Amino acid sequence: MKEAGQRGPIGQRRKVAAGGRKEKLPRTIAIDGPSASGKSSVGYLVAERLGYLFLDTGAMYRALAWLALQRGVHLEDEAGLGRLAAEVDMELGPPAAGSGERCTIWVDGEDLTATLRRPEVEAAVSLVSRAPQVREVLVALQQRLAGRQRVVMAGRDIGTAVLPDADLKVYLDASPAERARRRQAQMAELGMSSSQSHIREEILQRDAIDSGREASPLRAADDAIVINTDGLDQAQVVEKIVALVEGRS
Ligand code: C5P
Repeated sequence: MKEAGQRGPIGQRRKVAAGGRKEKLPRTIAIDGPSASGKSSVGYLVAERLGYLFLDTGAMYRALAWLALQRGVHLEDEAGLGRLAAEVDMELGPPAAGSGERCTIWVDGEDLTATLRRPEVEAAVSLVSRAPQVREVLVALQQRLAGRQRVVMAGRDIGTAVLPDADLKVYLDASPAERARRRQAQMAELGMSSSQSHIREEILQRDAIDSGREASPLRAADDAIVINTDGLDQAQVVEKIVALVEGRS
């Protein structure tokens, strides 16, 4: 990654409270969890509530997977994937209205947001993200972005590798059936359709690769607060996290 940036604030800026109360709030909030556990939607809303920057790290791995497919980089070629990550400029910004995403992502100036949920990206992304050379580049970028302002960052390794000293670490979980249902609804929002059983298979396959890889596997940090979101709607999960942030629970 040559130099990376962030276009404008992600999530709406809003004063949390008068009188410097924000000073006491955590600076960095890590939200990890398996595929379709709701990290991005919930993380975005928490960031919006608190006036923090929201960073969806999954979008970065997805954009890189799309590029690798476009440029014919073999998914087993870890060094080639690492070189690709190192040579492009990745920028993140707030979502475009109606995009159904929680961010906009540009690579070398080209908006790749619409490619993030394509089936070929779904199939390739966990292979791309297991390459240590890729992780090294993207984690460095994520750490630089987090260094600039208060941030809610969602991913797989935020609490364990990207922001090991995050002030608050949350691990969101849900049953595979619930996650497949949510992913199907999210796809419908984007005008895409697939059977729940197919989606379930796909997210379980991705989880297996993400949890089984050597480089920063998916797992809850020892000091993460685990929230099982089965039976909770999005607003309830957001409320739980905001309560943790504000020290109410
Ligand atoms: O969160 P999302 O499902 O968009 O992430 C897509 C993929 O990107 C994950 O399945 C995982 O392989 C990879 N990823 C990762 N580390 C992160 C975020 C995403 O390895 N911090």
